[in-house]
Amino acid sequence: MTEAIIIDGKEFSSNLRNKIAEDVKAFKKERNVVPGLAVVLVGEDPASRIYVRKKEEMTTAVGMNSLSYRLDANASQQELLDLIETLNHDPAVHGILVQLPLPKHIDTPTILEAIDPDKDVDGFHVVNAGRLAIGTPSLVPCTPAGCMMLLEHSLGSLKGKNALVIGRSTIVGRPMAQLLLAADCTVTVAHRHTKNLEELCRQADIVVAAVGIPHFVKASWLKPGAVVIDVGINRVPAEDEAAKATGKTRIVGDVDFVEAAKVASAITPVPGGVGPMTIACLLNNTVQAARNLTSAS
Ligand code: NAP
Repeated sequence: MTEAIIIDGKEFSSNLRNKIAEDVKAFKKERNVVPGLAVVLVGEDPASRIYVRKKEEMTTAVGMNSLSYRLDANASQQELLDLIETLNHDPAVHGILVQLPLPKHIDTPTILEAIDPDKDVDGFHVVNAGRLAIGTPSLVPCTPAGCMMLLEHSLGSLKGKNALVIGRSTIVGRPMAQLLLAADCTVTVAHRHTKNLEELCRQADIVVAAVGIPHFVKASWLKPGAVVIDVGINRVPAEDEAAKATGKTRIVGDVDFVEAAKVASAITPVPGGVGPMTIACLLNNTVQAARNLTSAS
């Protein structure tokens, strides 16, 4: 039995960030502009604070400007809309990211749609979702964009492959399906009402799991030689009994990695697979947005 190739998202994302740093240098030389990413955080959610800090550090590390905006958890929806309006018109800002989730009194779709689609580096605006759906170039949601890079790196052309995407969220499953379709795959999108999921999985050359259930996809569901992309990030109790007793946790994916690696030809680990690609793709989108915005003016 051959073990699957482990797709190293950490190394891939590090190489991508090095390339982005080169792109930023070249862009600065060519247009005398430094791409700027504005990150807006409303409230004090501890996980969001960590994500935002990481995004800001990595933005600076590739030579881009990081602009941070913090609003109080009680800030009104109008205050946030006013800030977005200011950022939409600020020529030093090429990308705007509003960290989710937002406090309950703020309507997330209203906020996302207030962002200038050309600065929407998360790719969540309906205009960008629409562009992706009709197959015209757009700012693509970062996690599926990262999954596509890993798939193309593993498989080369995806043309004609049977792809199964498990999950249909607007941030992962749906855009992932659109990207696979644009790459000429035959795409099936599964969700909680899907019948015969195991059978569908057995027919898939590519399986993308974005479910949010630890070890949901079993090795026995996979076609031998399938390429498996595990988007899931699930916190479960630590394996080690002593660590478990202290309440320690660990992160696992949506795929039973150890067993699946005995059947798949290539698989992403969790952590260290898709996760590190997301921020790298955010930076990539920001350079892309800066290019688009400055060539239009
Ligand atoms: P989500 O919005 O909760 O969507 C989960 C999807 O899974 C839904 O479409 C749901 O179907 C489907 N589902 C749930 N139970 C199912 C079942 N039994 N059979 C088939 N489908 C089922 O989650 P998400 O935001 O897409 O995220 C998915 C996972 O990816 C989470 O673990 C999240 O933490 C992780 N994630 C990772 C990154 C990263 O950077 N690596 C980024 C984003 C998300 P319905 O639509 O029918 O409810």
